[in-house]
Amino acid sequence: MIIDCHGHYTTAPLKLREFRKAQVAAFDKGGMEPDEPTFSDDEVRETLVDAQLKLQKERGTDVTIFSPIAGLMGHHLGDEAMSGRWSRLSNNLIHQVCRLFPESFVGVCQLPQSPGAPASNCVAELERCVTELGFIGCNLNPDPSGGHWQGPALTDRSFYPLYEKMVELDVPAMVHVSSSCTDAVHHTGAHYLAGDTIAFMQFLQSDIFKDFPTLRFIIPHGGGAVPYHWGRYRGLAYDLKRPPLAEMIRNNVFFDTCVYHYPGVELLTSVIPVDNVLFASEMIGAVRCVDPDTGHYFDDTKRYVDQLKHLSDEDRSKIFEGNARKVFPRLNKALGH
Ligand SMILES: [Zn+2]
Repeated sequence: MIIDCHGHYTTAPLKLREFRKAQVAAFDKGGMEPDEPTFSDDEVRETLVDAQLKLQKERGTDVTIFSPIAGLMGHHLGDEAMSGRWSRLSNNLIHQVCRLFPESFVGVCQLPQSPGAPASNCVAELERCVTELGFIGCNLNPDPSGGHWQGPALTDRSFYPLYEKMVELDVPAMVHVSSSCTDAVHHTGAHYLAGDTIAFMQFLQSDIFKDFPTLRFIIPHGGGAVPYHWGRYRGLAYDLKRPPLAEMIRNNVFFDTCVYHYPGVELLTSVIPVDNVLFASEMIGAVRCVDPDTGHYFDDTKRYVDQLKHLSDEDRSKIFEGNARKVFPRLNKALGH
């Protein structure tokens, strides 16, 4: 089985985006929030059949771990109450997708984060999504201020109530920023990769995994700059009297394969232990075009993993399936096997 651990509902019905736009405008102008939209099953089906589902079939992916549009989480917009309503609506729509296509999608939730609000306020929505909607993880924004980096590091004790709940429910978090507050920092080309890299350095500097030995994070987009600069981070770990990196990440930090070219995936899987790499494409997402050099979509990442010569069949199987089942233990139940 091929499990893609990173997909967002980027093709959601247009009225979801229209509602969000109106919600933010109403907040900024002090007006009445618009009524929440509802989505018929047919409407939802139409957005997926010729998009993610078609591409999954063409590329040979069986199931995608699916979450709301990351760039639209917009935790820096509005206030905490608005973030709560928006998260609930977005998560309910993912649940509808998973109900319609249980063989193809398993849900991961957006959290109702907001600048200045404690992460403990996200516990109730996480619990609702896991216990009532059957979700198997969450996306955790390391910077709800949208690029200002005004909040505490992910390793701050204020996150501990959320981590205690994640451990209790046995669900991981994908570290995932949202949109950028400034045009000077492009969201998918700069802000995302910076967020990934920053989160890793926060983990390196802390003892969070001593406090939570079973807490698990996926750092997406190939881990930002981390694998390419692995020597820098190993050196920093020695300089800062931290444990060796391979030991630090072993049971706790994982990277996905959303790098979008073969040499990048080759480097990733040469530097990072195979047990810590999960297959993902993040399609349909940041890069939607065909690579003119190869004639294939940049985000058809399965091709790159298939081509890796230094991997055994067992290693490849871990990246495609085994590691995802280990990091997301609730996946087995969600898939019924
Ligand atoms: Zn993403």
